[in-house]
Amino acid sequence: MTPLHLHTPLLQHRALSSQLGKRVWLKMESSQPAGSFKLRGIGLMCQRALAQGATHLVCPSGGNAGFAAAFAGAALGVTTTILVPHTTHESVRKEIRAIGATVIVTGEVWDETNQAALQICTQPGTVYIPPFDHPDIWDGNASVIDEVAHDSFDVVICSVGGGGLLSGIALGLQRNGLSHIPIIAVETEGAASLHAAIQAGELVTLPAITSVATTLGARRVAQQALDWTRRHDIGSVTVTDAQALDACVRFASDMRTLVEPACGAALAVAYQNLPELARFQQPLIIVCGGISVDLQKIQAWGKL
Ligand SMILES: *Cc1c(COP(=O)(O)O)cnc(C)c1O
Repeated sequence: MTPLHLHTPLLQHRALSSQLGKRVWLKMESSQPAGSFKLRGIGLMCQRALAQGATHLVCPSGGNAGFAAAFAGAALGVTTTILVPHTTHESVRKEIRAIGATVIVTGEVWDETNQAALQICTQPGTVYIPPFDHPDIWDGNASVIDEVAHDSFDVVICSVGGGGLLSGIALGLQRNGLSHIPIIAVETEGAASLHAAIQAGELVTLPAITSVATTLGARRVAQQALDWTRRHDIGSVTVTDAQALDACVRFASDMRTLVEPACGAALAVAYQNLPELARFQQPLIIVCGGISVDLQKIQAWGKL
């Protein structure tokens, strides 16, 4: 199967490298066709679903997962329905429709939208595509590490929503004989469901998401993500919304690329030169991207 995602560029961040006295590497997932790394895992899951006879793909997400599923469905020529909560902006609904998917607006919060999606998926041939919690998604996300397995880096920095990216990176390191390479898993303070789970020693459902990085707003991470923290060197770090936004603004200027606060969170580890970075010389930051950003937002964040 030819993958739906692209092999993305690996760039050195020159300014940060000289500022920190390290080699700072950037894996530019922002250049994926659906705007984020999501196409890796969701694309693979959709391809496998079709190979097994699926005739209808259903994904509950008004964000990057929904875009990736819509993109994958269109590329594969299969009927695709994206369910979004009422809170999803009309412009987002329009953009998903423009890709070719059907959009159903239902639910006040994502959990309600998700229930509606699961309901539709009881029909024969209809396959549920979750945003992060599935082995095919981790398998697909792991390809981001396959692509850099022969490059030199001594830590991987990624942001965490539900932990699908983190699980993919850990799997990718493992399957490429790089299990000794640590991961720094980053969340914003108001969306820190992995951090809470590690502290509690079990999965925690956050009462609410209070961060601007709504893409990281899974109230509960996948069990798989917590399990990886027990068998891989994974440091959990939180940054403030202000730090994530500041990183987006500086990154836009430094690399001429716009990314969401969800991605700014991972970049903030380097921009803030957090102590967790001290023991590493060649950090690899997964520039996860995200489509919910534009020039106006960057300018507004720059004035904060
Ligand atoms: C989905 C997403 C994340 C979080 O990924 P999870 O697999 O949910 O942990 C981070 N950044 C961006 C841009 C995303 O689209």
